[in-house]
Amino acid sequence: MLEFIRSDLAEFAAYNTQHTDNSHLDHPDRLDVNENPYDLPDELKQKLAWTWQNEIESNRYPDGGYLALKDAIAQYAGTQFTNSNISVGNGSDELIRSILMCTCLNGEGSILVANPTFSMYGILAKTLGIPVVSVDRSPKNFEIDLQAAQNAIDTQAIRVVFVVHPNSPTGNALTSAEIAWLKSLPQNILVVIDEAYFEFSQTTLADQLLERPNWIILRTFSKAFRLAAHRVGYAIAHPEMIEALEKMRLPFNLPSFSIAAARLALAERDSLLEVVSEILEQRAIVYQKLEQLPNLQLWQSAANFIYARSSHDLEQLTEQLRQQRTIIRHTGGGLRITIGTPDENVRMFDRLKNALT
Ligand SMILES: *Cc1c(COP(=O)(O)O)cnc(C)c1O
Repeated sequence: MLEFIRSDLAEFAAYNTQHTDNSHLDHPDRLDVNENPYDLPDELKQKLAWTWQNEIESNRYPDGGYLALKDAIAQYAGTQFTNSNISVGNGSDELIRSILMCTCLNGEGSILVANPTFSMYGILAKTLGIPVVSVDRSPKNFEIDLQAAQNAIDTQAIRVVFVVHPNSPTGNALTSAEIAWLKSLPQNILVVIDEAYFEFSQTTLADQLLERPNWIILRTFSKAFRLAAHRVGYAIAHPEMIEALEKMRLPFNLPSFSIAAARLALAERDSLLEVVSEILEQRAIVYQKLEQLPNLQLWQSAANFIYARSSHDLEQLTEQLRQQRTIIRHTGGGLRITIGTPDENVRMFDRLKNALT
């Protein structure tokens, strides 16, 4: 071990070595990271290629203020917002880290998460030496244990509460009781509402933001908008929160090509998001079929994936499916299955059925 490396880093693993390296598989069905199964249409790729060739100067740094992109995002987020309400990140993962650095760093506080949930909050907090306080969710409907959460607020130095709406991996949207609890939190606690699946769920708390300077919404172009390769995420919040995030942002954190891709996706959103309804139809079909399988407990989902539990050895089961080139995710004590193309879904079902019976 190199002696100058922080000693606590020894317990971490790099994210891609944990579960996203499938480079040894030949064209697998990738139903493990909740991407949109469809690439950008050819004509949009050609438009983007045209932009690259004719408008992007490779020798120049990007426009570091991102104002045109922020304007377009603000317009998409709602008429009440302007570019002063928007910050952009190299994926929303970068924004999560910036939020942590703006709030809890230097021993100024801990974060609260309710497990199972998106793992990056805890992973990024720990790499910054920020303590993570976890509470459970109901094993029935995955609602946050609000009593335990309130108890954590009362007894520990919580600075930030992270929730996903709808939650990953379990697919449930925030209930009115959970929203009421978030509203009851004092102004010195930041509430991060991660709406990575907004285009699938069509539920948002954006209409609350202007009244609540201690709330921030995160969204991404990586899921419904089909731009995972380009790494663009954004935050919507009070201008002072945005200013703080901008102080943490690396200069030129978004490449020019990614800015162009995100602007194009927003301009063409009506046609790009048309597949959302197909994916939701597929979700209903997959759910109905999975319901017939033995030893599989399912939950309704508001996002582009389905969560299931089983008494099977899930590590072995996901490995068996992987060998057959269907990749699903074993996480949070269950299986998270992304809705893919109709063909991918049929293959997933057949292979899972085989493995379970
Ligand atoms: C996919 C996902 C993200 C990450 O989005 P990027 O913009 O690709 O970094 C953030 N939060 C949740 C809950 C996600 O599922």
